[in-house]
Amino acid sequence: MHYKRILLKLSGEALMGEKQYGIDSDRLNEYAEEIKEVVEKGIEVAIVIGGGNIFRGLAGAATGMDRVQGDHMGMLATVINGLALQSALEMNGVQTRLQSAIKINEVAEPFIRRRAMRHLEKGRVVIFGGGTGNPYFTTDSAAVLRAIEIEADVILKGTRVDGIYTADPEKDKSATKFDNISFSEVLTKGLKVMDTTAFTLSQENELPIVVFDMNKKGNLLKIVNGQTIGTTVNL
Ligand code: UDP
Repeated sequence: MHYKRILLKLSGEALMGEKQYGIDSDRLNEYAEEIKEVVEKGIEVAIVIGGGNIFRGLAGAATGMDRVQGDHMGMLATVINGLALQSALEMNGVQTRLQSAIKINEVAEPFIRRRAMRHLEKGRVVIFGGGTGNPYFTTDSAAVLRAIEIEADVILKGTRVDGIYTADPEKDKSATKFDNISFSEVLTKGLKVMDTTAFTLSQENELPIVVFDMNKKGNLLKIVNGQTIGTTVNL
């Protein structure tokens, strides 16, 4: 196997499937099956999940809501998604723990780094909810932060597109995909991989990012097998 410990970042929107809002149970189950395949290969899997399918602080602020209040709602949304993913994984026979950056002890363990690492060593999937626990951050930043903390080998950012392109492939038909690209090239070319805070944190800590299409069956397993899927951002 190419990687021993991975951090999978899934956006909240990915969980909507074809729906406009909330969680699509079929999509959730598909993800659980993909993750199970990887766990069964002995890969240690941590997951950071977004909340955009339920609430985003910025969207709240746009309607006049206090930004911090909105971000708190967004962070709680990630806990809801984390619970849903936990449930889908356990229905598929995968052992999991949900750790939250916001204390919500009746439904999730608090985030404790050493405990998270111990769970991973025991083969449990650890889902990190609540983002970083701070407003003004995103779950991409949470993903990079947790990946560094737990010493993951890579961040696998599951998206709707199959990698990083020279331009938006939905708008520009001549756009081509990168198999590999450096952090500095992403910046000089002005390409969008993650928000700047998250991206810089990853670069500074030399943590590679793989952007790939999570909706294509088998992709996750192929990546951990070392196949060139999506785009890898590295030094
Ligand atoms: N959020 C936050 N701090 C964090 C992570 C998330 O305040 O560390 C809030 C923020 O309001 C964000 C929302 O939670 O809009 C949902 O997260 P995100 O937008 O990253 O989800 P995704 O786009 O991945 O679905």
